[in-house]
Amino acid sequence: MHCPFCNHADTKVIDSRLAGEGRQIRRRRECLQCAERFTTFEVAELLLPAVVKSDQSREPFDEHKLRLGLQKALEKRPVSSEAIEQAVARICHHLRSLGEREVSSRMVGEMVMDELRHLDEVGYVRFASVYRSFQDVEAFRTEIDQLRISAAAASPARRS
Ligand SMILES: [Zn+2]
Repeated sequence: MHCPFCNHADTKVIDSRLAGEGRQIRRRRECLQCAERFTTFEVAELLLPAVVKSDQSREPFDEHKLRLGLQKALEKRPVSSEAIEQAVARICHHLRSLGEREVSSRMVGEMVMDELRHLDEVGYVRFASVYRSFQDVEAFRTEIDQLRISAAAASPARRS
């Protein structure tokens, strides 16, 4: 990194140690030009990204809202609140691991649909029908047809 004193492009690390109970790396650096020394701290950035909506407005990611969305889609469905919590945790973990400052609301929606698809077919269809825009009606219909086909294939009682 650039020297904060003279702005020279090259500095060398002269010491490196853990700090902040192992959550940070503290580095002593020395400028190769002016020989000034300074300290940097390196921390893992695990912030949740901001969500960019289709009208390009941005809002902070809201875990509470995500949970409510899942709960609403799964209302009166045989899915435990623990399973919902796990889905919320998986989505948050995935979003953090992306390391992006912003993600599209569409991408978050797709992640929710992905979770619902595994949790409960009815919940998935409920959420998808609200979430998907009208331009996507055809794609949505195709997806429901595919669900029906895979449900039929999975059912041993059904005869062809
Ligand atoms: Zn310098």
